[in-house]
Amino acid sequence: MSTDIQPQPGITDIALYEGGAASLDGVKDVVKLSSNENPFGPSEKAVEVYSKSSRALHRYPSTDHKNLREAIAKVHGLNADRVICGVGSDEVIAFLCQAYAGPGDEVIHTEHGFAMYRISSLAAGATPIEVKERERITDVDAILDACNEKTKLVFIANPNNPTGTMIGGSEIARLAAGLPKQTLLVLDGAYAEYVEAFDGGANLVDSRENVVMTRTFSKLYGLGGLRVGWGYGPKHVIDVLNRIRGPFNLSQAQMETAEAAVKDREHAVRCREENTRLRAWLAEALAEIGVPSDTSCANFILARFATPEEANTCDDYLKTQGLIVRRVAGYNLPHCLRITVGDEASCRRVAHAVRQFKEGKA
Ligand SMILES: *Cc1c(COP(=O)(O)O)cnc(C)c1O
Repeated sequence: MSTDIQPQPGITDIALYEGGAASLDGVKDVVKLSSNENPFGPSEKAVEVYSKSSRALHRYPSTDHKNLREAIAKVHGLNADRVICGVGSDEVIAFLCQAYAGPGDEVIHTEHGFAMYRISSLAAGATPIEVKERERITDVDAILDACNEKTKLVFIANPNNPTGTMIGGSEIARLAAGLPKQTLLVLDGAYAEYVEAFDGGANLVDSRENVVMTRTFSKLYGLGGLRVGWGYGPKHVIDVLNRIRGPFNLSQAQMETAEAAVKDREHAVRCREENTRLRAWLAEALAEIGVPSDTSCANFILARFATPEEANTCDDYLKTQGLIVRRVAGYNLPHCLRITVGDEASCRRVAHAVRQFKEGKA
């Protein structure tokens, strides 16, 4: 009987990840602000390299990712030997769970933390533990209180998705120093590039043996569709992760395109500056009409409504206007909508539509 064929424990507890919607039936001129994508797209140089890479599709890719690792290391001032590349940072998160957490182990994530931490923990057979935040901000003391001898991993996104908030370097250092001996701290820096002069925790990685940082090309670099991310950690951790990484996990096209993208500093800086400017404008425009948000350090705003009903009704109205934003009830934030900072026209459109809704003209 097929019922005798059962997956490993934990796997059937996984709720399927829901990506941001990309289209609306019967609505033209749709603006997608639901997946924190870069509205300006990737570097032109990266696109050119991607096109050219099609000529070598019959060749297997390099297994050691050397050129990409060295380009990343040069831009960020890191040791290339301790960089690992993955199919999105999601894959690096999965490697960490597979390598360090199994049945009987606990993996801590925060109340409004990224969905993949829970999914990858369950996939590895470990038990995800949700820890409260303080007013949508990571609470270091609550995390330390939740640690015990079973805690193997602690995941913190800084800045966090979907709250957009972040905690300072001294708080992160205090967390790393206070963890049990067997616990690895993972600093998810998917949005680190949006914070000027922020290293995402790289210095802390260098100065300790229990901290790993993950980064991605999906957000600031505008390459969500390419699927490239990376991690930076102590030698002992990177050695372990490389043992479970598939030798050909990244195609040559992925590696060469990401390499061109990270080298194009001009594009990266321009995208960050535009995001900072438009994020401030959007937050202000929404606050003026009674939709507050925490100061965001990322490329989205978590708009707070009075009730879950109001958030959902507003979302329904935005859809009729061709605007797709993200409901975040699954992140314990049913009264909020997460709105990606788009280009200027999209920001104006979404602010206008929320105003129409709030003023009852919808
Ligand atoms: C988008 C995002 C990622 C990146 O995922 P990729 O697999 O690199 O596309 C990782 N962590 C958080 C918190 C994110 O929001």
